[in-house]
Amino acid sequence: MYGLAMAKGMLVTLKNFAKKPFTVQYPEERVKQHPRFRGEEFVWYEERCTGCASCAKFCPLGIIKIVTSPSETAPLQGDKYRLEVFDIDISRCMFCGLCVEACPYDALFMGSGFEQSAYSRKGRVIDIDQLRQAEKLPSTYFRPQLESASYKPQEGQPLDWVDVGRESWRWHEREKAGMRLQPSDASPEAISIGSPDEGRGVVEPVNEEIEEAGTVSAEETT
Ligand code: SF4
Ligand code: SF4
Repeated sequence: MYGLAMAKGMLVTLKNFAKKPFTVQYPEERVKQHPRFRGEEFVWYEERCTGCASCAKFCPLGIIKIVTSPSETAPLQGDKYRLEVFDIDISRCMFCGLCVEACPYDALFMGSGFEQSAYSRKGRVIDIDQLRQAEKLPSTYFRPQLESASYKPQEGQPLDWVDVGRESWRWHEREKAGMRLQPSDASPEAISIGSPDEGRGVVEPVNEEIEEAGTVSAEETT
């Protein structure tokens, strides 16, 4: 009986002897990750972020903390948010990606790394400065625009904020800096989703409008 069990065991060994191994000797060897891999090191594009906090609201674990205040850069339009705190407690994250799915502005992406393990959960909160400085190698998870461009974050090519959105929103940064959009003469039908900068409107500085208003009132009083 004992000999039979030994023979069965040896048979299994022999069967697998010639097979290619599917384990790798990490860290000397690394498994190739899929571009859609949901990794650590969240990629955040401040230029795209409006501080809407949708990501925090949709996180099922409540581990994203966002604090904003009125920026006073666009008071005539009802103002914008200034982000003061953007913390993600990475030690409790389950990498579900719901925060990324909830972001309406393509400002938040899953990362592509997986080497931030630690023995303690202490000090594992990614803050706004770390998010700003993190390498911009976004995962293509829930970002079809990156998939269609065959982007591969593991190849180490960082992407700028103008290249990562489903819409380029090139005016967005200027708007945050106090500019505003005016409706253009183009009809709504003329607006092309593929060319977001065309037909969306003309960007004009708020300050110019204030200056113009001041000029008119000065003339009226003379
Ligand atoms: S990936 Fe999931 S758990 Fe992690 S911060 Fe986003 S929503 Fe929360
Ligand atoms: S990352 Fe996206 S969802 Fe989160 S606050 Fe910024 S714009 Fe809103």
